[in-house]
Amino acid sequence: MPKISMTTPLVEMDGDEMTRVLWKMIKEILLLPYVDLYTEYYDLGLVHRDETGDKVTEESARAAKKYGVAVKCATITPNAQRMTEYNLHEMWKSPNGTIRRILDGTVFRAPILCEGIRPYIPSWKKPVVLARHAYGDVYSAVDDRAEKGERAYLVIEDESGREVRRKLVHDFACGAGVVQGMHNCDQSIYSFAHSCFRYALENKIPMTFAAKDTIAKGYDGRFKEIFAEVYESGYRMAFEEAGIDYMYTLIDDAVARVVRSEGGMLWACKNYDGDVMSDMVATAYGSLGMMTSVLVSPDGKYEYEAAHGTVTRHYYKYLKGEETSTNSVATIFAWTGALKKRGELDKNAALVGFAERLERAVTDTIEGGEMTGDLIPLFHRDGVTPQKLNSEEFLHAVAKRLN
Ligand code: NAP
Ligand code: MG
Repeated sequence: MPKISMTTPLVEMDGDEMTRVLWKMIKEILLLPYVDLYTEYYDLGLVHRDETGDKVTEESARAAKKYGVAVKCATITPNAQRMTEYNLHEMWKSPNGTIRRILDGTVFRAPILCEGIRPYIPSWKKPVVLARHAYGDVYSAVDDRAEKGERAYLVIEDESGREVRRKLVHDFACGAGVVQGMHNCDQSIYSFAHSCFRYALENKIPMTFAAKDTIAKGYDGRFKEIFAEVYESGYRMAFEEAGIDYMYTLIDDAVARVVRSEGGMLWACKNYDGDVMSDMVATAYGSLGMMTSVLVSPDGKYEYEAAHGTVTRHYYKYLKGEETSTNSVATIFAWTGALKKRGELDKNAALVGFAERLERAVTDTIEGGEMTGDLIPLFHRDGVTPQKLNSEEFLHAVAKRLN
């Protein structure tokens, strides 16, 4: 069979540790035999990031902006221990943070569902996709302690520095305490809203945005207002044509509704809610190895990755020559997501078809009882006894189904 060809390069961002090992195996076993892979390769492994003064991360993000679709392997975000382990020149910033800053996006996380892997919430039949606003709020807040007798104010100045408004936050007359100031920007909220509506439309799933505007009337109220404005002016008609709807509700009501639902919706969350709820949703579906993540920019650029990290503990075992059984599903789906998107943009039906067949081969393999160790305790299917495969055996089992 001739290999499938590609017309536009896919931006390939390689990474670290166990996921770097899987990355190479996935390409060799599941991609290169079938596709004439056309990628622009950036090595975001920590060694090369350090050698380039982290320039490679920025270059890769700019390439993603240029070509529109990227696939990323998990990468180490260095901390003090990594500084010595890798003898780094600097404690480089999180590559995901850098890429997000350049693409200005929203992160969507969706679970990969398989028959037999039962979510902890048994009524969830379809994916709950979570969209997290990745700018501002408590993540860029200033906070402080206040002593007894101090007063904290919210002060707003105009461009020339003249005070235009002052509000008392709290008078600490009765005792010491804490105080915090945070912000967001209209432009970022508009981008967030557009990314969410576009994602819901492309995937034909209804969408809920939730915040707490009854309490934070000015702050969360502004989010609610912007979402309503963007929906009415740009998406309502397309949503109606697609047979899906948009709803705003309070965050506590949204939590209750999502738990009661059968899934199958996009849940757009403010930054903190998204941080907390995405871990809840990932865990409820079973394993981090089964959760994909895509960063979508407001101008329609896509960066696909697995939601988990570099699986360091498994990598140290691998280095000692021990057998590993690391789940490669989310990384395979990062590749298929990116190839499908590249195929759609280039009107390359063969590439889209291949990516879909590969996804099917992965889920069929698991449903047939062949899986990595993390999934064994979660798997319950009548008449099928789950069999634990090592990292490489699993990829060969998928290839066998693909053939
Ligand atoms: P992690 O790599 O996600 O792994 C945490 C644990 O979760 C693993 O030890 C393993 O549990 C389980 N796990 C995660 N993915 C798995 C998979 N594919 N198959 C099987 N088990 C899996 O998180 P971490 O250990 O906290 O972080 C390691 C490194 O990754 C850090 O340097 C961090 O900076 C980086 N990181 C990168 C990203 C990213 O690039 N997007 C995201 C998060 C973290 P068991 O050990 O119990 O088997
Ligand atoms: Mg978190």
